[in-house]
Amino acid sequence: MARYQADPVVARIERVTAQRPALAPIMELYRQWYAALDRLPPLAGAVRISEEEAARKLAQGLPVLHDCELPLHVDALQQALKNLLELVAQANSSSYPEMAEALRRLKQELPSQMPYLVQAAIPQADHWTRRRLARQYGLDEAVLVTILTMLMRPAHTIWWESVANLVLDRPWSRGYCPGCGSGPALAELQGKEGALHLRCGMCGADWAYPRLRCHRCGTRNPQTLGILQIYDDLESPFVRTCSACRDYLKVLVCYAPNPPEMLPIEDIATLELDFAAERAGFTHGIGPAFSS
Ligand SMILES: [Zn+2]
Ligand SMILES: [Zn+2]
Repeated sequence: MARYQADPVVARIERVTAQRPALAPIMELYRQWYAALDRLPPLAGAVRISEEEAARKLAQGLPVLHDCELPLHVDALQQALKNLLELVAQANSSSYPEMAEALRRLKQELPSQMPYLVQAAIPQADHWTRRRLARQYGLDEAVLVTILTMLMRPAHTIWWESVANLVLDRPWSRGYCPGCGSGPALAELQGKEGALHLRCGMCGADWAYPRLRCHRCGTRNPQTLGILQIYDDLESPFVRTCSACRDYLKVLVCYAPNPPEMLPIEDIATLELDFAAERAGFTHGIGPAFSS
């Protein structure tokens, strides 16, 4: 089943490549990464949680996957990471040869490093392990985080999809994901009514959110909420800003929600909006928005 190479995803990657040649290398990296994912067995297994337990957590403001056992298929994960390290090394071999070499060294030593990498990649990530690994291989920690995020998104999507039906009909009005607790990567104006939905950057969860409320600090003061537009037409993506917490969020206008695997592609395709928001003095807080 070609989930990651489904026609709309491939078509979108091709369109972004054609419209924004500067993004061609990163689009090519995603195209090959998605092809690799389709060849591999699933990286994770379904999460088991009862309906009562899920309801109890949500009522307390806890993401459903919080403190759950999250099954990972370590062999498939190792194979996926091997592919990903090679793809990132290839993509950077001429511009950052030392980094490419470090990634290939890590790839060769993967069997012995896998337990630590898994520890660094899980949602309750152990920052020290990540820092030590980065240092050991002479890698920028941000590069390692990016790679581990790419690796773990498909696993998170599997976990989310295994619990989504326990969440969808229950009220949730927080600015973090009801599944995994991550902050939203993007928002979407969905359907004819243009209802605002936040989209999780890790698992792809989709939840409705009030339009006149900041996703980060929760303020409802209309004076602090703003819009930043760099394109002319109303169908184009734009940015929501909050002058109280200085956070921003990109908003896509789409009739149907994007599938989780499309979100990283859309996030990259709208980089111009990030630059515009940052120039205007806003930042988008990344990392887990929820903390227990
Ligand atoms: Zn999530
Ligand atoms: Zn705010």
